[in-house]
Amino acid sequence: MTESVDPFDHASLLLAHDGVNAYDAVVPPIVQTSLFTFSSYAEMEETYKGLKVRPTYSRGLNPTVRAFEEKIAGLEGAEDALGFASGMASISSTVITFVSPGDRIVCVRHVYPDAYRLFETLLARYGVAVTYVDGCDVDAVAKALPGAKLFYMESPTSWTMETHDVRALAALARANGVLTVMDNSWATPVFQRPITLGVDLVLHSASKYIGGHSDVVAGVVAGSKELIGRIRSATLPYLGGKLSPFDAWLLLRGLRTLPIRMKAHEAAALSVARRLASHPDVVSVSHPGLGNALPEGLYGTSGLFSFTFREGIDIPAFADRLRLFKLGVSWGGHESLVVPAQVVRVQAAGPNSAIDFGVDPNMVRLHVGLEGAGALWSDLAEAIEIARRP
Ligand SMILES: *Cc1c(COP(=O)(O)O)cnc(C)c1O
Repeated sequence: MTESVDPFDHASLLLAHDGVNAYDAVVPPIVQTSLFTFSSYAEMEETYKGLKVRPTYSRGLNPTVRAFEEKIAGLEGAEDALGFASGMASISSTVITFVSPGDRIVCVRHVYPDAYRLFETLLARYGVAVTYVDGCDVDAVAKALPGAKLFYMESPTSWTMETHDVRALAALARANGVLTVMDNSWATPVFQRPITLGVDLVLHSASKYIGGHSDVVAGVVAGSKELIGRIRSATLPYLGGKLSPFDAWLLLRGLRTLPIRMKAHEAAALSVARRLASHPDVVSVSHPGLGNALPEGLYGTSGLFSFTFREGIDIPAFADRLRLFKLGVSWGGHESLVVPAQVVRVQAAGPNSAIDFGVDPNMVRLHVGLEGAGALWSDLAEAIEIARRP
């Protein structure tokens, strides 16, 4: 796959057909079984010796899950992929495969909060240190990388929507012998393909756009055969966070409409973001599609962005007045959602604190769903009207 191909066209073609059909069905079956039996001792022995690859037990290999993994590998331009029971299972299993006590990770700041908590709690207990850097500052990244084992990337970042020069950062890491892992949940392979930009491993919370219907929690990581093979053999069997066949089937179903959903989220979110940007009660809008051109390798924008109210807006009243935007975490489904930063800061002050989201208390995150930009804007405008303090 050449780098100049628009990922949208690539994805549309790939997702129109499923390759693993049984009974000439256009949709692959859900192979809902925990184990697979062998026809003979010889076949069992051959499989256990690794001479034959076939499903044995669904924690390791399942045909429906495999169909999903192959789709993701194709979308990301990767040789192989591995499905997980959640995005966090894909993050923890991937990172733990490649670090040991005494190692150091470099991580972009404002990373997904539970990835941060994994680093600061569990990995800290096992003697892995993490340095946080501003991913927009190439020089700062260059200074932090020497001696590190792994560079953890996310662009745009979850709350602040900072975009990075992925190709430049990946090249720096490679020059320093540092493995790169990137969370691509926000853009999806329809709008960004990090492996074509030089990143080693790309992972997703498939609970977001890949599933797309808010009915599944899942994750996936894609990369070279060698790196995915190491995750498959070193951590997957023991941490055991494998994707289930039914969830894989739901994800395959979601993937078929991923390209057109992303175009719809993009158009509606841009429309809402532009109107917010010119609203007198809004100080700033953090959306990668406003202002300058998109960074190299990012071909479009999704439905998730944040904005900051001026002082004097009653944010709980705003949230309660919204009818179409529901209060809720996660994103990437058909429905519009709102999360006020104030609430997340309350959670961050708990036992896993020390977290600095770099997030203003007047910030609000929106996920713009598929209800239509006009109705969504009316909902927001009316709620702001109610929330304006005298
Ligand atoms: C939700 C999310 C995750 C975690 O995924 P789960 O499927 O909830 O475990 C990771 N990264 C980003 C950017 C997310 O939004």
